Amino acid sequence: MIPYGCQKIDEDDIQAVVDALKKPLITQGDAVDLFEASISNEVSVNNVIACNSGTSALILACMALEIGVGDTVWTSPISFVASANCALLLNAKVDFVDIDSTTFNLCPLAFEEKLRKANTQNQLPKVLIVVHFAGLSVDMEPIAALCKQYNISIIEDASHALGGSYHGYKVGSCQFSDLTVFSFHPVKHITTGEGGAVCCKSPLLAQKLRKMRSHGITRESSEFLSGSSSHPLWYYEQHSLGYNFRLPDLLAALGSSQIRHLQKWLSKRSALAKNYHDTLPSNVKFQFIPENVIHAWHLFVIQLPEALTGQRDVYFEKLRDSGIGVNLHYIPIYLQPFYQKLGFKQGYCMNAESYFAKTFTLPLHQQLSDSQQMFVVEKIAQLVNDEAF
Ligand SMILES: *Cc1c(COP(=O)(O)O)cnc(C)c1O
Repeated sequence: MIPYGCQKIDEDDIQAVVDALKKPLITQGDAVDLFEASISNEVSVNNVIACNSGTSALILACMALEIGVGDTVWTSPISFVASANCALLLNAKVDFVDIDSTTFNLCPLAFEEKLRKANTQNQLPKVLIVVHFAGLSVDMEPIAALCKQYNISIIEDASHALGGSYHGYKVGSCQFSDLTVFSFHPVKHITTGEGGAVCCKSPLLAQKLRKMRSHGITRESSEFLSGSSSHPLWYYEQHSLGYNFRLPDLLAALGSSQIRHLQKWLSKRSALAKNYHDTLPSNVKFQFIPENVIHAWHLFVIQLPEALTGQRDVYFEKLRDSGIGVNLHYIPIYLQPFYQKLGFKQGYCMNAESYFAKTFTLPLHQQLSDSQQMFVVEKIAQLVNDEAF
């Protein structure tokens, strides 16, 4: 099966992990600092806090913004469940803003309309989590302006978008948000096996994130509530509840080795995407890419022509049968049984549901060969053009 996404590990990556395993500290050594510095450099942001998954990163970001009981968080229904779960895990409420049917990202107009309504009902969200779907940055400028107007904080779930940019700003630089989250799961651009990171400009948020990543504890004397002087060397303070969301050094070492490949892999992904655009049948629909946005190409999704929409599952199965690991990103989050139990109803976000009915994901990753891609394209062309497929 040609997978829709997969990691690439070379001998240097393996050696980096072996070296890390031979160090006295395999967690809480200096490899995490080095990995954080390399991300910081890559996305042009001052503060990077690495942690043990993208999901932990989302929870940390929500905790840093003090989301809790009585708060509401809005996000996109076309995302992985973690983008919404993080708010519920902190006992806040969650709600969904419909997507734009061309970019598949949260729609600024739908957001504006929903805000106006929520404002009259005194039900404004505290935080918006935008998701740069497939690697394409959300239209941040109008969204940031609305959030400023209504006093809403922004978290970017950039799990798909490492290496992308918006209006000249790297995704992760937090030019239009409070915090940005990345994931280093093996299907993402670079991997640490499991891992994630939170980026922010604010030193205060960074300080909170570091504490909450490790039990709410600090060992920095400048942060001590009992004053910075006259403490023995073993002294530490717990200031809040926190988790153990730390990334081990051996995984951080893999991350630092992987990130060296990022630019090369982004070029490869972008070339593959261009090839799909150029060679797939002309009646297949693609994600629309606005000007001034550099797509990071985590996923390549296509929509069947209108007349074939009802056939999606048949075609999906046929492609799987031919050894093509097509996938579906995503079932609208609120259609999950768990969210249905919370009261969300079918028909809540019409664009998301119509997207869901006709879209699927083709293989796209740094290991995909030209001949594999040609095979995928040929099969799809048969599907779309040939009744006898
Ligand atoms: C992968 C992903 C996550 C979660 O990341 P993990 O590292 O698997 O916990 C969150 N949001 C989106 C959009 C993702 O694709």
